[in-house]
Amino acid sequence: FSSLLKFDLVSRYQAILFIFLFSVHTKMYPCSYQAPPCLANTYLFMVQARGIMLRENVKTIGHMIRLYTNKNTTLNGTDYPEGSNSSDYLIQTTTYLPENFTYSPYLPCPEKLPYMRGFLNVNVSEVSFDEIHHLFAKDVDIEPGGHWRPKDCKPRWKVAVLIPFRNRHEHLPIFFLHLIPVLQKQRLEFAFYVIEQTGTQPFNRAMLFNVGFKEAMKDSAWDCVIFHDVDHLPENDRNYYGCGEMPRHFAAKLDKYMYILPYKEFFGGVSGLTAEQFRKINGFPNAFWGWGGEDDDLWNRVHYAGYNVTRPEGDLGKYTSIPHHHRGEVQFLGRYKLLRYSKERQYIDGLNNLIYTPKILVDRLYTNISVNLMPELAPIEDY
Ligand code: BGC
Repeated sequence: FSSLLKFDLVSRYQAILFIFLFSVHTKMYPCSYQAPPCLANTYLFMVQARGIMLRENVKTIGHMIRLYTNKNTTLNGTDYPEGSNSSDYLIQTTTYLPENFTYSPYLPCPEKLPYMRGFLNVNVSEVSFDEIHHLFAKDVDIEPGGHWRPKDCKPRWKVAVLIPFRNRHEHLPIFFLHLIPVLQKQRLEFAFYVIEQTGTQPFNRAMLFNVGFKEAMKDSAWDCVIFHDVDHLPENDRNYYGCGEMPRHFAAKLDKYMYILPYKEFFGGVSGLTAEQFRKINGFPNAFWGWGGEDDDLWNRVHYAGYNVTRPEGDLGKYTSIPHHHRGEVQFLGRYKLLRYSKERQYIDGLNNLIYTPKILVDRLYTNISVNLMPELAPIEDY
């Protein structure tokens, strides 16, 4: 036992030293999105994340030892180590509605429903479209385009889920299989729009979202829009996909980043804005061709408009990424320059300078919007 305690102390010091050295290091060589890209960026972040995890583990082990040696306490599934978000956990469990709660079709659906039980089993194994079509065929309430609305209460939000897409055919059925039951449990009205980029230009995630937004709004008056990567699966059904007074960043803790927010302004993966907020900021920028930066620009736009971003508390914002074999998209190196002019560019590049010709196909589970994007489709006047 004493050797365990010794280990606890030694590794605690090691972890602190480790974190200190690396934080000094990263302060000397800032590699955030405002600075030029550097390869060490990801590496250093990973090392820091490991340091933080190590420290958390040490804390947990220390706490467990104290609990075991204290005869008056027990250690069971509901005990949370100190320093973790125990208060978040307790608030959630005590305020979720009981099983026997009665709904009324004339009253708004509550936000904390009894079916939302917390952690989910995330299954990333491949499944075919035929299989999921067959599975969801039993649910007669799903209308074409994956449009579903609750019958027992009035949905609080009418949510359009926009998914930018190219080549990831194996991800789509996994995504729907996971997400449809979650949104049904949350009693939201929803439909899915997959915006597929054809042609040979680098992937333009942001422009696809703008196209998706315009097309979804032609379809129905959605009041909340979720911008969702196809390979991100929520691990907790209490991560409520409704919107709010402020734009929301849902994917706060990604497994690929060891469940740690890479930086305060990170706004990638899954985010959501009301249609009104999105119009106010002129949508996403169209000028980001290739990987990176468009989410940072959205963050800037949101803040210039006077909003703050909210995130789910504690572990609610955890996500699993579907592993994939595709080579990553090309990095957009021009992002640093564009980000320096976010403020000026927000008025001239976005929903207001977008031209496109979509091809639309309505499947039972989603609407497919395919577009061939080219830079000349978002002309910008000099500023
Ligand atoms: C990129 C973002 C990306 C983030 C996390 C940043 O450098 O600009 O687009 O979401 O890294 O990967």
